[in-house]
This record gives sequence, C-alpha cells and structure tokens, in this order.
Amino acid sequence: MERPMIEHKDRSATTHEVVAELRRRSAFVMVSHVKPDGDTLGAGLALGLALRAIGKRVAYFQQDPVPRNLRFLPDADQVSRAVPADLPGDALWVFCDMSDASRAGEFLPPIDHANTLNIDHHLANSRFAGLNYILETECSTGTCVLRILRALGATITPEIATCLLTTIMTDTGGFMHSNTTPQVLRESAELIELGANKEEITSQVFANKRFAAVCLLGAALGGMRLDDVGRYCYSVVDEVMLAACKADGEDTEEIIQHLRAVEGVEVAALFKAFDGEVRVSLRSTGHVNVQSAAGRLGGGGHFRAAGLTFVGTVPAALAAVHEALRAEGL
Ligand code: 5GP
Ligand code: MN
Repeated sequence: MERPMIEHKDRSATTHEVVAELRRRSAFVMVSHVKPDGDTLGAGLALGLALRAIGKRVAYFQQDPVPRNLRFLPDADQVSRAVPADLPGDALWVFCDMSDASRAGEFLPPIDHANTLNIDHHLANSRFAGLNYILETECSTGTCVLRILRALGATITPEIATCLLTTIMTDTGGFMHSNTTPQVLRESAELIELGANKEEITSQVFANKRFAAVCLLGAALGGMRLDDVGRYCYSVVDEVMLAACKADGEDTEEIIQHLRAVEGVEVAALFKAFDGEVRVSLRSTGHVNVQSAAGRLGGGGHFRAAGLTFVGTVPAALAAVHEALRAEGL
C-alpha cells in the first residue's frame, strides 16, 4: 500500500486537508494530554466514534486514568496507556488539545512525524505534528473536531454530541467564560437537538462533588492569600491537606475558580504541591495574559487559563510565579 506522506507546514492545515488525510488512513490513535480534562478526552472520543462509524480502526491513548467525573463519556472505558501491538504502520496519531507534544506525557512509543495530526485551539501551539489543525479562535478542541466532522459528512450521533458538548461546557466553564460566543451557544443548542445529554454533563462534570473535594476546597480557601493591592489571589494545596480530607489531585479542579471570583482579583493561582512536583494553575479575568506568564516558566495555555510545572520548592514557585505575573503587567 502506498504510504501517505504529510509534510510539515507552518500554516494550519485546512479542514479539507485534514478530512483528506483521515479518509486516506485505516487506523487511528487518539491521544489526550496528561491530567486529562473534558476537552482533550471529549474531542478524541467524538472523532474516534465518528471514524469508527465509517469503518476505521480506532484506539485511545492517555497516560493518566480517566478522571472520575468523565467516566460517563461514551467509550471512556476504552482509553488506556497501552497501545495495541498490531497497529498498522500507517496509523495516524491524533493529538487533541495540546500546545506541545510533551503534554501527552512520557509513555508514547516513538512515532513517525508523518503519522501525526495535531488538533488544538491553544495560543502559541508549537505545531509539532506533520499536520497541524490549529484554530485559536475556537472555544474548545471539540469545536475544531466539529468542523472536521461536518466536512467529513459524519453523522453526529447523540453519543458524539454528548462528547462535543462536554468539550464546550468544560472549556467555557459551563458557558461562563468570555469564549462563550453566540456561535458557541448556537452550536451547543444544535448539539442538544442532536441528542447531547446536557443534564448528565451538568451533573457529572459540575455537580456530584465528592465530600473529599468539598473538604479540600474548604482547606484551600482557608489558606488563601491576597496580595497588597488585592489583584492577585492564590493558595497552596499540599500532601498534608490531601491526606486530611482523604482527597486526591482530581479533587483540586474547582478551587481556582473561587480564587478568581474574589472582587478586584485579576489573577488567581493555585499551587499543587504533591506527587513529587509543584503544578501551578493560573486564571485571569482578562487584563493579564497568563499564557505568557506560564510560558516564561515553561508552561502554556490560554490568555485567561494556563498552567505549568515548577521545578523547585513551593516558596520558590510562589516567588517565580509572582515575578512572571508582574512581568506580564499584574
Ligand atoms: P489547568 O490549570 O486546568 O491545568 O490548565 C489550564 C490551561 O493551561 C489548559 O488549557 C491546559 O492545557 C494549559 N496547561 C496547563 N498546564 C500546562 C503545561 O504544563 N504546559 C502547557 N503548555 N500548557 C498547560
Ligand atoms: Mn481545550
């Protein structure tokens, strides 16, 4: 069989080019990022379901387990760190919602560059793949996938619609962030008409909090700090707090939105010091570009939501992040 070739391109691939590439291939591996969220997972599952429906072989690679609140997604039980041994040589590896390939983690086998497709909406995507479909104005990677599915002429089943609506609701914070445009609301309405289970997404992703998570939220809010001018609010979650609440990393998800919601606050940060690293989440109300701030410390993300892993102690992380935020106009 003739080996399809895709060249590296600095520009984004067109939807047509992506569809042509998908049609050429017989097998796919959907790759989601470490500490997966509803966008990376929902986008990969939606595209995987649509490709399977047209007779393609699809596997799902994800280094970390599916978070508890996303296990309701169709086919979520097929996602794993193990890659099938008998994949054909022309399998296309589809990276969803990653500004850089390193976001996939450390357990990917070596992959031929020509066999990679990068679908994403982050600012400053490194365009690491053979084919890069980067739409920075989309609210989620899932809506990038929706463009592809439409061009592919795929049937949007209720399962696919649920996956796509999950990506939108995750990345718009339940339709609250500034990326919730009229277009996003129209597309969400369409997905609900197609059978997306909005009630289930709302209850699984946004309600249904474990006691441990609410306990941890209390502890993190108890320790929050505000800078002298009231524009920067931050808190730390460490191993001791996790143990006291019988909580784990997944239970930290919601904390940062409470820090950003404080009146006058322009940037919120949550320092997660456990599992042998200091992970930092950053959120902005729109004045400070936290993607640039995170970028100064090796991370990335979006203007209003970004993250990084800090190598060093918590006090050093606190100082370095504050410095990076100041450099971005905090
Ligand atoms: P979160 O704070 O929810 O982990 O991440 C917020 C946003 O920043 C997400 O869009 C996520 O993809 C991005 N992000 C988080 N951590 C990193 C990181 O270490 N590197 C990069 N490039 N992006 C990150
Ligand atoms: Mn996303």
